Formats: sequence, structure tokens, C-alpha cells
Amino acid sequence: MEFSAEEAALLSRYFTNLDRPVFALRNLPEVVKGALFSRYSRTEKSLRRVLLDEFISEPDSGFDRLAGAPPTDDDMVAVRRAEEFYERVLVGYGDDSVAELAGAHVAVEQASTLAAKALEDSRIGVSPLEKSTRYVRFDRRGADGRYLYYRGPELGDPDYQRAADALFETYSGLVEPATEAIRRRFPQEDGETDRAWKSATRAKALDLLRGLLPAGTLTNLGLFGNGRAFEYLITKMAAHELPESRRIAADLHAELSLVIPSFVRRALDDRYGQPAVERLERMRSRLQELAPALPGERGGTHGPSVRLLEHDPDAERKVVAAALYPQSSLPLDAQAADPQVVLDAIFADRTNRRQRPPRALEHADYTFEIVANFAAYRDLHRHRMLTQERQPLGTALGYDSPPYLAELGMRDAFERAVEEAARTHRRLEQDAGAALAQYVVPLAFRVRWYMRANLREVYHLCELRTTPQGHPDYRWIAQQMFLRVQEVHPRLAAYARFVDLGPGDELERRRSEQKIDAKIDALNQRLR
Ligand SMILES: Cc1cc2nc3c(=O)[nH]c(=O)nc-3n(C[C@H](O)[C@H](O)[C@H](O)COP(=O)(O)OP(=O)(O)OC[C@H]3O[C@@H](n4cnc5c(N)ncnc54)[C@H](O)[C@@H]3O)c2cc1C
Repeated sequence: MEFSAEEAALLSRYFTNLDRPVFALRNLPEVVKGALFSRYSRTEKSLRRVLLDEFISEPDSGFDRLAGAPPTDDDMVAVRRAEEFYERVLVGYGDDSVAELAGAHVAVEQASTLAAKALEDSRIGVSPLEKSTRYVRFDRRGADGRYLYYRGPELGDPDYQRAADALFETYSGLVEPATEAIRRRFPQEDGETDRAWKSATRAKALDLLRGLLPAGTLTNLGLFGNGRAFEYLITKMAAHELPESRRIAADLHAELSLVIPSFVRRALDDRYGQPAVERLERMRSRLQELAPALPGERGGTHGPSVRLLEHDPDAERKVVAAALYPQSSLPLDAQAADPQVVLDAIFADRTNRRQRPPRALEHADYTFEIVANFAAYRDLHRHRMLTQERQPLGTALGYDSPPYLAELGMRDAFERAVEEAARTHRRLEQDAGAALAQYVVPLAFRVRWYMRANLREVYHLCELRTTPQGHPDYRWIAQQMFLRVQEVHPRLAAYARFVDLGPGDELERRRSEQKIDAKIDALNQRLR
């Protein structure tokens, strides 16, 4: 053992073991973990030895005051200590990536759906999770008795609030009748628990009605991320076109400065942050001037669509070459083999969608343009291993009215409410501008966006998003994406065995809820 008994006693609190080469860190502040890891690049010592020699036994390091001392009630003292510690350890590091070595959990509550999308528009280093429109009713009221939608000072127009209230009234009025009607249509099955049946039927009702919620609807989300990703997120949010997002940027910065100050210090500072914010704003306004106005699509509503705009005709050869490459000593452009045989070798025994296809599939790229309702966009936007951007949410592309609502006799109420909101939107668009007018647009309205994805992500997205329990709207999009790829690359698509092109489950959550029951039973048995 590398450590004396005395040293081991000091260290054991901080590591999951002291004598093996793989170990986890615990009971250490984020800043210390980040600083410790960053030392790997500048020392030949082991990590545990660094903690001992350079931090614990070094009075000047500030470690004792950070990790050893009882927590202080004074936030500013804690911040200063963290800053000083980090400065002392990292003086001389020129590498921005050290800010990826510490992370934080941050909650953002009462953010509009639009601001939540802006926060979730991060691909590397941030993992978000948001309140679900499938499992949570959105007609609860706040302490002031009002429905929960964004009412910032920039949205003072009384018509906005009238339209949003009307949408929530309709949603609220339909939730119970829709749930009851669905329960009559899908009675409890033999052996199905009350819990599973009620959850599945409620989820279907909420899925049907989510299109009524305006984009200003407030939601809650949690973000876990590393310091570098948060730094960029704050800068981006500070440059966002919505004042709400800019206020969230300031709040995020203030709160993260209490836990990982050194990592987000540059996000809004005068040297890097502010100039970056201003540059992003200038870039947006220059591009707004250059971009053609929204094309003549007013009234031109053609329903949802998924178009494949670009693909590589040579993709199959590239995928095959890339698959052989790591096993070969030939250059990439000298690889050649029968594609069928290589693809068979890759996929021969793939037994479930979680078994990822190899990186070679990243050599085939596709650009899709999708027109679909904003609720479905919201779902698919969460995929990060691709490039995507949306256009402003408006009402010109029309809306989707879930066909099943007609069967329940609720289509008229739904359509009346969204059309009324569309009238308010058109007026707000003139008076307040397209960005702010988005808040009143119900999620049923369509938006146009592009997704550029490689084949590996196409496999992941299409297999995950076509599972029969998924929402029918995003299932349809994922199926269409897959069909477009199949048309141009039938052999490459043929191995995505877990894409489900069927009609989906009528009561989408039923099988999943029954599986949850089985898991609860198994857990109870084990704990008994
Ligand atoms: C049935 C269902 C219910 C859902 N319910 C909710 C909900 O209630 N609330 C909610 O907010 N979201 C919900 N989601 C969205 C979900 O949380 C994911 O954001 C979304 O499915 C994207 O999936 P992904 O992360 O696998 O894909 P991608 O982002 O496309 O990533 C592809 C793969 O790359 C890897 N990867 C990407 N980023 C990271 C990372 N930072 N760390 C580690 N690995 C990474 C993972 O292996 C991932 O599968 C739901 C999704 C489904 C399918």
C-alpha cells in the first residue's frame, strides 16, 4: 500500500479505495475535484498523493478551509475560498478544457417553454430533464390563482393574457372528460392494476391535449453540466432574442457563481463574455437583415412533412471503408470489400436497440427538413448528436388537430381555442414582433426546422422514437425520416431492425405501465 496508516485515515474519506488503480472521488467540493483532475497533466504523482501532498498537507492551498472546515453560512466567503483555491492550483494553465472537470446541478423553474428550449439547445456537456406534458397536468394554478404561463413585463398586451387564459381554460375543461372517455374506450384489463390503467389513460388524455398549451407555458427543468458548457450556455442565453432568456442567463450566472465560480467567471465578464454576447447579437441582426422574409406561406398549410434534402450517394462505400479501417493497415481510401458482407459482419448479432452500431455509420450524413407541430419539435429537439435549428414559431404553417379528439367529440373545442389564439398571435406579431409573439402560439402549431444527422444517430433516433408507446406525432416523423433514408440507401437502412413502422399502440402507455408494475413487483419481492 502506497500510504501509511495515518495517511490512509486522512484519505479514505475522499476515495472509494486506496489500493486499486480505479477509484471514485467522494466528499470533495466540485472545485477541488476539478483542480485535482487538472493536476494529472502537470504531475507524475498519483491523484491520491496529490491530494495528500499538495492540498491536505499544504496549509497554503486553502484546502482545509474549503473541504475540511465546517460549511460556512456566508456564501460570499465560500465563493472567495473556492476562487482562491482554484487560482492557486491552476495558475499557469492555459487550457480551457480544465473547466470541464467540475460540474453542477442547477434547477430552472417557472421558465416558459420557449426559454426551456433555449436552455436545452446545448449539445455537449449539458444534460437536461424537463417536466413532462405526458405525465403532468398543466392546468394547476399558481399562488395568485392564475394559470402558469409567462407574464414578463415585455408581454404587457392584455390580449396575450386573454388568449393564454382561454387556452388553459379549454385544456383544463377537457382533461377530465377526455380521460373519462378514454377510460370508457379502454377499460381496465384483467390483471391490470388500477395504477397502471389510470396512468396510461391519463397520459393519453394529456398527450391529446398538449397542443392547446401556449409556448409561454411555464415548465421546470434540471440541468446537469460541466463548467465549460455552462459558461457557454450563459453567454448564449445572455445574447438570446427573448428578454426572459437574458434574465435567466443572469440568474444562472449568479447561482453557478456560488458553486463553481471559477468555471463560469468569464461567461459575462468584460474581457470575454460581454464581447461574445454583443457579437452574437450583432451576427443575429445582420443575418436577420440578409435572410429573405418568411416565404409566401400565409394560408399555405400543407400539413406536416419530412423531406430529405441532402444525402451522399457514395455513403455506403464510405461506411464500409470506415468499418474495415481500424482492423487494417491500408489507408482509408484504399479499403474495399463487398458491402453486403461487411454490413452483415457489423450487424449479424445485434439483439436490441441499445447495442450501438459502430462509428463507421457516422460516415453517412443526411439533412432533413421537417414541418411538424411544435410539441413534436420539442420532443425531437432533445437529440444532441446532430445539427439542428428551427425557424420562429408562428401560425402560418397551420396546426395539427389530433384525429382521436374528433372521435371523442372534442375537436371543435380544441380547434376554436387554437384558432382564437392564432388571431391574437397575428396581431401580436405586428405589434410586438415575431419573437415575443411566439409566447401565445399553442404547441399544436407547426414549425419548420432542419436536422442534419449521421446514420448512427438516425439509427438511434428512429429506433428510439418509433417504439409503439411513443407519442404518435414524433413516431410519424421518425418513421418518415427512416423511410426517406431507406429510399436512398436501402441496404444501409435494412439493418435498423428495431425501427417500428407499425401503427403504434392505441393506448400508448399501457404496455409500459404494465412493465412498471412487473418491475415494482420484482422489487418488492426482492426487498421482502
Ligand atoms: C419515452 C420517452 C420519454 C421521455 N420523457 C422525457 C421527460 O419526461 N422529460 C424530458 O426532459 N425528456 C424526456 N425524454 C427525452 C429524453 O430525456 C432524451 O432527451 C431524448 O430522448 C434524447 O435521447 P438521447 O439522449 O438518447 O439522444 P441524443 O441526445 O441524440 O444522444 C445520442 C446518444 O449519445 C449519448 N449521449 C449524448 N449526450 C450525452 C451526454 N451528455 N452524456 C452521456 N451520453 C450522451 C447517449 O448514449 C445518447 O443515447 C423522453 C424520451 C423518451 C423516448
